[in-house]
Amino acid sequence: MVPSAWLIAAIAALLLTAALTLWPLLGPAAPAWLASLQLLGLLLSLCALLGLVKQQSRQLAQAQSETLTLQQRALEAINAMPAGFDLWDREDRLVLHNQVLAQQFAALGPRLKPGARFEDLLRESLRLGLVKEALGCEEAWLQERMRGRREAGTQAGAPILHRYGERWAHIYQTRAPSGDLVSVRLDVTDLIETQQELARVQALALHNQRLLEQAIDAMPAGIEIFDAQNRLVKANHRMQAWLPQLNPAQAQGQSFESLLRAKLKQGDLPAEAVGREDEWVQQRLARLGQSQEPLLHQLPNGLWLQTNETRTPEGYLLAVHQDVSDLVAKEQQLKASQSELEAIIRTAAVAIFTINAQGQVLSCNPASERLFGYAPSELLGQNINRLMGEPERSQHDHYLRRYAERGLNTLRGRPTEFHAVHKNGQSLTVQVAVTEVRKPDGPLFVGVISDLTERKQFETELQDANERLLRLSTTDALTELANRRLLMQKLEEEWRRSLREGTPLSLLLVDVDHFKLFNDRYGHQAGDEALIAVAQVLKASVNRPADLVARYGGEEFVVLLAQTDGEGALAVAERCREALRAAAIAHALSSHSAYLTLSIGMSCAVPVQGGKASQWLTQADLALYQAKAQGRDRVVRAPSFGPA
Ligand code: GH3
Ligand code: MG
Ligand code: MG
Repeated sequence: MVPSAWLIAAIAALLLTAALTLWPLLGPAAPAWLASLQLLGLLLSLCALLGLVKQQSRQLAQAQSETLTLQQRALEAINAMPAGFDLWDREDRLVLHNQVLAQQFAALGPRLKPGARFEDLLRESLRLGLVKEALGCEEAWLQERMRGRREAGTQAGAPILHRYGERWAHIYQTRAPSGDLVSVRLDVTDLIETQQELARVQALALHNQRLLEQAIDAMPAGIEIFDAQNRLVKANHRMQAWLPQLNPAQAQGQSFESLLRAKLKQGDLPAEAVGREDEWVQQRLARLGQSQEPLLHQLPNGLWLQTNETRTPEGYLLAVHQDVSDLVAKEQQLKASQSELEAIIRTAAVAIFTINAQGQVLSCNPASERLFGYAPSELLGQNINRLMGEPERSQHDHYLRRYAERGLNTLRGRPTEFHAVHKNGQSLTVQVAVTEVRKPDGPLFVGVISDLTERKQFETELQDANERLLRLSTTDALTELANRRLLMQKLEEEWRRSLREGTPLSLLLVDVDHFKLFNDRYGHQAGDEALIAVAQVLKASVNRPADLVARYGGEEFVVLLAQTDGEGALAVAERCREALRAAAIAHALSSHSAYLTLSIGMSCAVPVQGGKASQWLTQADLALYQAKAQGRDRVVRAPSFGPA
């Protein structure tokens, strides 16, 4: 039955009872059953009212049960919240809180219970040091916190970030229309820590980026970084120093092409771009970041830059410019000196060859063709030994091998004479100076060869002439004996030697007797021939190589006998006289013989300090004079000269 049915039944029963009660008042006498009927009506009313009351109480119980269930569910829901929840009444006393909040404030222990004052709980937390940001200024912090709480509006505003213990929380406070304060504490420790970590990582990234930028700025190379759309991201300090017109603020974000065109306008125009700027720009753009080879480019200020462009996997273009002015200058110098060297080699009168360690000709100059008769094409790649005569030709390969193995070097640096052979077979005498050039792929040898054939010939002739001259200057033309000049020289030498060694020295001064008469009788020509014969006789009469026979002048001769004492000298003198007599050269006008005879003045000495060879010679002359005076054809010994 619907609840209103009991009400209607009760009202109907009451109305019926009232009608039955009012019936006698209308006039007719009340029948006997009326009272029973009234009683019945009352009973029915009572029953209906009872039913109504029962229904009401059942509804109330049901409503109470539903309210409890709702309350229970609400509590469960609050407890199930991942946030702390607390409700405070107008007097700021705790009405209820969920389990999460209890966990968040576990440090407060049993103090956290309904009825507890917020300020008391806050002071306790401060006392326990749980509010980190309040440390040292607890009272001021508390007042501020309380003020914020009092001012909490009915709209949920921005959360308050609050650190409690080691945890971070966002507190959302809302004032309910009843004046209660609803507070939700959301633990955001993970979020805050993540944010802090993020901030730390960002700071680190920023720091690293600055460090990288500083490093890029400090680099001695110019660096430009362009993004994937070829827009300038960064140009380092060195780049700005090289290109003062590159205003970093303006240039940043500009495309490579517009920067390139700006450079062209400002006169930074490579020679190959003159007159075809557009085409050149297009070619440059097409090549951008593609070239494996570095690009070389000269700035208007004269600097030479070498550029390497690289695309990063992210599409960024990294252009690294290095100042290679010194290198370029050196290279230009090198080229100049190379050209100079080539010109020298080309025009040199001497043959210049380069060979490798196997002896193969790698290069040769025009003079080599003039010297050896082979065209360069006939020599390149050939073994150099084909130009050599024996024994060099057969030894050369072996020599090179030995050099490679042991580093022996008998040729290098100093000129050496070689026998060489011209293409036409003519033998050549050449001088070779070899220098080794060490290269990474093995040694090279540069040989400079000059022709000595003519010089050699000239040298030989000169030597012959000199020898002839020397002979002439020291030889008597008629007798071919040593002349007086050589005699005097030898005399001085032997004198000094004997003086040094204390050995005896002897000298024979030989004069042909009556030679004037011989000439008169036989003629001057026969006289010459007789003098030649005397010379041969004298020469044949001395045995030792050190003995010297010289023509002293006219018909006078000297025999110088080194290391010979008086006895020995006398023997030689007598031998000379005997030998001439044996030659039997007729002399019809001689005063004492039918033949040509000799008078000999002999002088022997052991030289002493202070004595002179010339004086000693005079002694011999005196002895000769005596020999003449005594009748000629004899030997007279001069008195001893010195201790001999
Ligand atoms: P003495 O016995 O005293 O030495 O008498 P001599 O005639 O030999 O001496 P003297 O000094 O008077 O004469 C030397 C002569 O020798 C004079 C010269 O005609 C001769 N005579 C010198 N040199 C040569 C020469 O080269 N050839 C020839 N044929 N005669 C020469
Ligand atoms: Mg004489
Ligand atoms: Mg004479």
